Amino acid sequence: MPLRVIEEFVNTRRRDGDDIATPPQLATWLHAHGLLPAGTEITAGQRERAARIREGLRALIADNNAEPVASPRPDGLDPAARDDLADLTRDLPLMLDVTVSPPRLTPLARMPVEAALARLLAVVAEAVADGTWTRLKACREPSCRWAYYDHSRNRRRTWCSMDLCGNRAKARASHQRKSTAPSAAGRFGSR
Ligand SMILES: [Zn+2]
Repeated sequence: MPLRVIEEFVNTRRRDGDDIATPPQLATWLHAHGLLPAGTEITAGQRERAARIREGLRALIADNNAEPVASPRPDGLDPAARDDLADLTRDLPLMLDVTVSPPRLTPLARMPVEAALARLLAVVAEAVADGTWTRLKACREPSCRWAYYDHSRNRRRTWCSMDLCGNRAKARASHQRKSTAPSAAGRFGSR
């Protein structure tokens, strides 16, 4: 499950906190995921860049869970996050390493933190290649946006949790129907 690292990275931002809120926290997280040597110093600017990459990745996986085209996406995601990611990735080049078998994408960056972030982007490319990328989604509930891997056979899971976000969305839709539908008396009174 190589995409697991992307899922966990996006989910470092929780409703009640941020697991990579400081440079040492980011260093610990990247090290724990095998992406960074122990004891690597991270600057505040590098941490800020990692957080922006996180939101860009969230925007990308929200696209994997987009509403049907007919309806506008009521998701409140920052549309600039994707453009921002496009800018950031220019500084995180990857190259095809053909000295290993099979060949694989590897970061060109010399700075360990940049290499770690580029490695995350390589995971995205690998997941696109093996057909699993579209299974990684951001919950469609606007107040949530939690990342999850859609294991369902039809790949149509919409919410991180039916119990939480699914029911919340259904309750809201039902409330809207009630408030916009004509009253029962008006509807049936003319019969
Ligand atoms: Zn959710």
